[in-house]
Amino acid sequence: MSMKNGKILRVNLTTKDITTENIDSGAARSFLGSKGLAAYYLFKELRRGVDPLSPENKLVFMTGPLTGTKAPSSCRFVVCTKSPLTGAWVDSSCGGFWGPELRFAGFDGIIVEGRAESPVYIHISDGEASIRDAGFLWGMGTIDTISYLRERHKSDRTVRVATIGPAGEKQARLAAVIADMRAAGRGGTGAVMGSKKLKAISVVGHGKVPIADPQKFNSLAKEAHKENKEDSARMAAMGTASIVKLVNSTGGWPTRNFSESQWDEAAEELAGETFQKTLWGGGKYVKPCYNCPIRCAHLAVIREGKYAGISDEGPEYETISLFGPNCGIKSREVITVADRMCDNYGIDTISLGNTIGFVMECVERGLVSLEEIDGVDLRFGNEEAFLKAVNMAGNVYGNLGRLLANGVKRAAEKIGKGSEKFAMHVKGLEIPAYVPRAGHGHALAYAVADRGACHLRPWLYGAEHFFGKLNPSTTEDKPEAVKLGQQNRALIHSSGLCQFAVSEDMLYESLLQMINAATGFNYTVDEFRLVGERINNLTRSFNCREGFTSKDDTLPYRSTNEPLPTGPQKGQVIRLSEMLPEYYRVCGWSEDGVPTKEKLEELRLDFVIEDLY
Ligand code: SF4
Repeated sequence: MSMKNGKILRVNLTTKDITTENIDSGAARSFLGSKGLAAYYLFKELRRGVDPLSPENKLVFMTGPLTGTKAPSSCRFVVCTKSPLTGAWVDSSCGGFWGPELRFAGFDGIIVEGRAESPVYIHISDGEASIRDAGFLWGMGTIDTISYLRERHKSDRTVRVATIGPAGEKQARLAAVIADMRAAGRGGTGAVMGSKKLKAISVVGHGKVPIADPQKFNSLAKEAHKENKEDSARMAAMGTASIVKLVNSTGGWPTRNFSESQWDEAAEELAGETFQKTLWGGGKYVKPCYNCPIRCAHLAVIREGKYAGISDEGPEYETISLFGPNCGIKSREVITVADRMCDNYGIDTISLGNTIGFVMECVERGLVSLEEIDGVDLRFGNEEAFLKAVNMAGNVYGNLGRLLANGVKRAAEKIGKGSEKFAMHVKGLEIPAYVPRAGHGHALAYAVADRGACHLRPWLYGAEHFFGKLNPSTTEDKPEAVKLGQQNRALIHSSGLCQFAVSEDMLYESLLQMINAATGFNYTVDEFRLVGERINNLTRSFNCREGFTSKDDTLPYRSTNEPLPTGPQKGQVIRLSEMLPEYYRVCGWSEDGVPTKEKLEELRLDFVIEDLY
């Protein structure tokens, strides 16, 4: 059983050089794929202090060893770079069909370098790549760009397109990359693409993904499909929106810029059950990603009222919550329209919903005058003003558009007057749709995640509130749980599978077996665990090289000083300082949160030691 090495496409937009290189087999085994492999390239190739929006930054699109295979939900690719939003590491994952198509076209990843003189797109077809003029596409929304490039490169297969919209072109720091109407949303990867004047990457391929032991792999994949299908009835019916009522009842639903954590009336209106009965056509309208038995994704169709005729892939839990209660809004239609607009403009709904909620609170407190924000009466619950704000942010126009499009940290710096205390971000990345004060575990995860406030590395809200595995009120056990969860998530995010297809129980069993059968790496459980830890230490080291230390592992003032006013955890604030030293200790890092030489040696990250010390 032997592994066939994948290929990387390297495109320099300044020199117009296009080259192909084999992935180093040692690196592939050490870093697995997707996030891990992208971190390997970016750590080695970027210099400390690079301006994220300069030609010297690089943008890496990377698939994992299971992307495009028969494994369930094998749709994922990541977009990685030094984030223009945070100045830290960012990997942003995307589903759909683009990742598999890239592998069918013969590449595991693309490294984009430099900056084009004028707008271009890259077209890839069965191992060949070319840089083409995109002047006529510049200014176009993602929906039209995708349709146009599909038509222009029409073949016997659907051409898959990853693109930016106006937000990315204008280098809004919240800009996303959109592929098949799915988003690599977080951290401003779309702005880096825009800074390179790269509008899109279209791809079509007819090849197959190499598998080291096809017979074994196919039988493992078949079994995993069956298990996923059996376990996913709730996700299939309502997607991630299935947890709306649960998060509300457990007191973690962000309401009015995270100042509250419950809103019962809105939870009824915005529950997955209600979306299913109304806009999702009783569950008939599904839009699943490549080869997915779970099929969590729905298509919303508005048939009546002011917004009749608009359809949207989604919305899912995060968008519903941050555009909904966090902005004081409970209209399914308004949230659906805003989601569709954001997909078309190419802007992250999580970060934008968080930032709009923040500006709404500033307006309500009189910290911002309406004159300063173009006369838009952006108060909680004002639907018209909310949609106007989404439009202005997505197109980056007016004072309000520019204020919102660059995220909550910069908005708070501009507004000042103490507003920083309720600007809900960590390291500049906006907090997603679980109120930090509701639980110590997920709050610690926000504080220390490599890309800033992230609910997925790991997702401890469930362990604390749904499954009774962790006590949300105490600091005990949380450092170990976060460390272990980060390693596990690093593995999932490097595998090429959707995280909804990999339960913690599957990770070191069927996922590991599928990876071994696909790659021939023959990892033991311990080696595989070490790969996760290695990746997590590598992205942490990337951040340390940029000057991030324990001083940046923080939570907003609101989370650590203002008692939670509602819900089962009423009165709680997060005691972060009690957890951080133990977290660093279990990670094998210094008191400043820097991986020690000994830890880096243990993980065979010698090239990191040279740079960090
Ligand atoms: S579970 Fe949902 S997001 Fe994941 S691959 Fe399936 S449809 Fe896509």
